[in-house]
Amino acid sequence: MYKPIIGLEIHVELKTKLKMFCQCKADFFGKEPNTQVCPVCLGLPGALPVPNKKAIEWTIIIAKALNCQVNQITKFDRKHYFYPDLPKGYQISQYDEPIGINGFLRIYKKTDSSQIETKIFRIRRVHLEEDTGKLIHEKDTTLVDFNRSGVPLVEIVTEPDFNDSEDVKLFLEELQTVIKYLKVSDADMEKGSMRLEPNISVIKIKNQKLKIKNNTKRKEKQEEKLPNYKVEIKNINSFRFVKQAIDYELKRQIALLEQGQQPIQETRGFDSKKGITYSQRVKEQAHDYRYFPEPDIPPIRIDEFWLKKIVKIIPELPEERLNRYRQKFNLRYESAFILTRNKDLGDYFEEIIKRVLSKSPQLKIDNLPQLIANLIVNKKVSIDQPLEELEKKILEIILPKKADESLLNDVINKIIKENVKAVEDYKKGKENALMFLVGKVMKEMKGQVEGKILIEKIKNKLLNK
Ligand code: ZN
Ligand code: MN
Repeated sequence: MYKPIIGLEIHVELKTKLKMFCQCKADFFGKEPNTQVCPVCLGLPGALPVPNKKAIEWTIIIAKALNCQVNQITKFDRKHYFYPDLPKGYQISQYDEPIGINGFLRIYKKTDSSQIETKIFRIRRVHLEEDTGKLIHEKDTTLVDFNRSGVPLVEIVTEPDFNDSEDVKLFLEELQTVIKYLKVSDADMEKGSMRLEPNISVIKIKNQKLKIKNNTKRKEKQEEKLPNYKVEIKNINSFRFVKQAIDYELKRQIALLEQGQQPIQETRGFDSKKGITYSQRVKEQAHDYRYFPEPDIPPIRIDEFWLKKIVKIIPELPEERLNRYRQKFNLRYESAFILTRNKDLGDYFEEIIKRVLSKSPQLKIDNLPQLIANLIVNKKVSIDQPLEELEKKILEIILPKKADESLLNDVINKIIKENVKAVEDYKKGKENALMFLVGKVMKEMKGQVEGKILIEKIKNKLLNK
């Protein structure tokens, strides 16, 4: 029996105006190559880096949203490696004092029996670094564009808590949603502002059942032990590809183990056309990077005061919102889930409820929020429409249509016929009797009629008689 052990490294590019350590603009996407550069981000001798305060604050926001502990003292380190897209020969990153540590993110999962299950995945660290330049491979040459060099990049590292690719996908989707709520990054995988690197290994579990019977402790110990290798897959740019890459890699590694071979520690790429991974290079160990503290940037203190100010900006996150929609609006899980996947969608939903209720306070429809949620989820209305149009359309849909008018008349006539006593009472001046009839009609119409209109209609009918 084999148990997959999977951890994740996610890089997220911040959408600050300026780069991490210089005054160059950070919005490099689609710009003329090498037009947003300066001595600092080109790594010219003597240039001094000055950290971008906003980038630090946004990283703290991400760390907090991922339930991390924020270190009071944080510092930058140099991570050395040689590659043409790295002009300094090192990347300014964070080594032993990252901004955030020991966090977690919860995912929601539907089980086979349609129950909602939650799972927690631990986050080891959240740190801040600079992005590298971009290599553009042409026929016989490789060109370098340094516009991306020095753009603030947040790295999120999980513990190896995942055992299957489906959980990885759900986790990444939740993480992307959280980042987008925070509005600190586009987290757009096609543009490369969110990049995914799973690391994968497999452990053999021997005679599992036997051990549980004989010695539970021994079993736990064995399960805790991690394999002595891991395979890292570089820069995957879609959730689907991550799943494919993991599934392929698990098969490959299990096949090796079955043949009595040991998979080696290495970095692999993913060929999305063939759906396979391929060896790139044997993985460096941390000491190969010769990390040491960045001498040009003093350590940074994150005090209580600053932290409190930053935390205040964090909006309601998707999970909280999901729970609120379930409780306050009594929404079904699926609707609440879809509406909270996109902050704008949820904002629209709430705005529409507010508008519909304020314009038509008489509207007494059971489960109005669920009704509106259905219209949005089933794409009967689109949030690209101006709110006024949307509201009009929703009112048209949920209020009785012209075609229902005859049905309403039939129901009113029927109720009047069936409740002779109430009709007489009303004619004698008992206002309560009218409301009794209104209630009866309303019940028959399942609330799909506006109270004010209904009162008028019944009144008219009774007085004309
Ligand atoms: Zn620059
Ligand atoms: Mn990194």
